[in-house]
Amino acid sequence: MMSQILPLPKVSPLVRTVKVLYGDHPKLPSVSVYFQGCDATPKCFDCHNPETWTFSNDFSVDFDYLESKVLEKLGILFSRYPRASLALLGGEPLSMHNRVFAYKLAKVVKERYQDRVVTILYTWRLPKDLLDVDIPLEYFDEFVMGRYMREYAKEGFPASKNQIYLDSVSVLTIIDSLKKVWLNRPSLTLLRY
Ligand code: SF4
Repeated sequence: MMSQILPLPKVSPLVRTVKVLYGDHPKLPSVSVYFQGCDATPKCFDCHNPETWTFSNDFSVDFDYLESKVLEKLGILFSRYPRASLALLGGEPLSMHNRVFAYKLAKVVKERYQDRVVTILYTWRLPKDLLDVDIPLEYFDEFVMGRYMREYAKEGFPASKNQIYLDSVSVLTIIDSLKKVWLNRPSLTLLRY
């Protein structure tokens, strides 16, 4: 009998690891949450984190526990630095499974630390792909968008020349413009003439 592949229930985030490091934000030390599971199809050639691809409940963590660990690690950073970053990476933080948890984590830290913390989200998605992402984006301060492409790989930040680094105002402005273009598009009837 063939085994059935069932979608995982979205009750808990899938997280591979949480690290404190320099490098995931261009200027600030970060608490970096690596979500487990990547929905890019096909996967990026020469991806640096293939171990994060699978959506597996083996990486399921309690959200309250994750939140407490992130706040604890940020607290340690703030005892030494005036500002720090929360970096959300993967895997894909905006996958269907993990996006609500990425949003909730960003909201918690922004409400607690406001401008002292900069939330940065890495996604293979481009601004047009965010039209379908059903979470508020305002708590993400910065975005690194686009796939990792080995032919455009470079030293430094971001890792691939094709990737775009944008603040939230820019991303939200692009999304608003795209929505207007979509709403004002000619109807299919008009296009026939
Ligand atoms: S989106 Fe990220 S995790 Fe997924 S294949 Fe590309 S580089 Fe790897």
